[in-house]
Amino acid sequence: MSIACSNIKPPQSNGDLTFINTAETQWRDVPKEPIKYAPKEETVMVSGGLTILQDKLIQAALRSMGENYISIPNPDFESFQKGKAYGNRGQCNPTYFTVGNLVKYLQKLRDEEGMSAEEIVRKYVYVTAGGCGPCRFGMYITEYKKALRDAGFEGLRITGFEHDKGIFQGDEIDDGILNFTPTFFVTLIKAVIIGDIINILGYKMRPYEVTPGSVDDAMKQCEDLVAKAFMDKKSLLRTLWKCRRILEKVVLDRLQPKAKVMVMGEFWAAMTEGDGNYNLHRFLESEGAECIPQPIINRLMLNLWEAERGLHKKEALETENAKVIDFSSVKTRILMKAGKIAIKTHFSLYAKAIGLHDYEIPDMDKLAKLGQEYYTLDCDGGEGHLEVAHLIESVKENIAHLVISVKPFGCMPSSSVSDGVQSLVTSRFPQANFLAIETSGEGAANFYSRVQMALFKAKQSAKEEFEALEKPEHIPEKVHNYLYQPHSEKAGTAAQLIDSLGY
Ligand code: SF4
Repeated sequence: MSIACSNIKPPQSNGDLTFINTAETQWRDVPKEPIKYAPKEETVMVSGGLTILQDKLIQAALRSMGENYISIPNPDFESFQKGKAYGNRGQCNPTYFTVGNLVKYLQKLRDEEGMSAEEIVRKYVYVTAGGCGPCRFGMYITEYKKALRDAGFEGLRITGFEHDKGIFQGDEIDDGILNFTPTFFVTLIKAVIIGDIINILGYKMRPYEVTPGSVDDAMKQCEDLVAKAFMDKKSLLRTLWKCRRILEKVVLDRLQPKAKVMVMGEFWAAMTEGDGNYNLHRFLESEGAECIPQPIINRLMLNLWEAERGLHKKEALETENAKVIDFSSVKTRILMKAGKIAIKTHFSLYAKAIGLHDYEIPDMDKLAKLGQEYYTLDCDGGEGHLEVAHLIESVKENIAHLVISVKPFGCMPSSSVSDGVQSLVTSRFPQANFLAIETSGEGAANFYSRVQMALFKAKQSAKEEFEALEKPEHIPEKVHNYLYQPHSEKAGTAAQLIDSLGY
């Protein structure tokens, strides 16, 4: 739906006659006056909103293809306030943060860099994710347009990839302006995957660094190397081997029993690194925890799983009604399978090169089986059944000492999952240490204090798990190297390491 009805007024009544004010019309998301947009060579594509590292790598990757592309800075509290000021009422938190962030960026171009609003509208295109919902994701593009109009940038082009239907382009965008080719997407996905891998390593290493800041320094060097490799079209595999040498030099003390905390929940709120979730990951690390983040690849795998399931259902309906072979759905199935294999292969090649040996891409079929008793697989808004499945998996496989589900204020799917279904899960799995927590953009003190309370129990569990193990007299130096991969069923890293030594 692309029509916002907030300015419709009720008919006015005068005695027994009803007057309709025909001057009032519904708001439509097309500019009032036609706009002559800039040609491709002057057009600037902007986007952002993933992790900070991924946004930087995507910028390098797309620029290497000749795209005039800029990743805008991570959303902050000011972005949120602008989102609230210019957006519709009752939106979810990620909408306010991301929409407000674009407004903030454009206002900066206008107010600090001296560009006129007309020039900005003519030249800039914003690329975002879109979808059919059923949550507010389906309204994102309209939300951007409404906020931009109210902020003085009416007509700025917005285009999006529709996550469940391949590529969707805003109807006013000329195909010649944006090169949404297979190469474009492959390059984009490579940047996302490498960003995921480096981020995962950062979360595994940072809590154990001996010199504060050394992991971030090493990660920055890796980021620069990978960005340069994209720009110079050099081998990404060889570059990741170089990154491995950099990371190996970071001195770690991995025998500290730290609470392992799985951070999951609504995709954006759980993934973002900033005010959007009160900087949750860094806060947890500062409080002595190790985070298990949700990489973007999880979301890609969920999208593919949902698309495949949709296709199965469609085919089942078709064979019930008529025995026809739909060649287009056979082709789609082959493409989806190929996409899945390509993503997994790239992930595992890159992960091996840099030395991330112990990370398994989530098995979506397994997670669906775990979650389906509690949450229908047919409801695929937000993360669908995934939050429930992650919690059950974490308890059954002893993955973490604490599971935090971050749910944004105003989020429909995540609220129903966390507030409703998870209470049944936690009553059936009483050993689960689970915290569902809302991010509203405000009220950080309350958020942190709830996290600290849940973390207290998690830290105790990590300590008890570690202390219960018999320690060898001599601990080999290799356990501190990030390349050493412990095989153990314990949750905490330190306990895994001792356990894996076989004493
Ligand atoms: S899942 Fe929730 S937070 Fe995310 S876009 Fe949908 S309604 Fe908003």
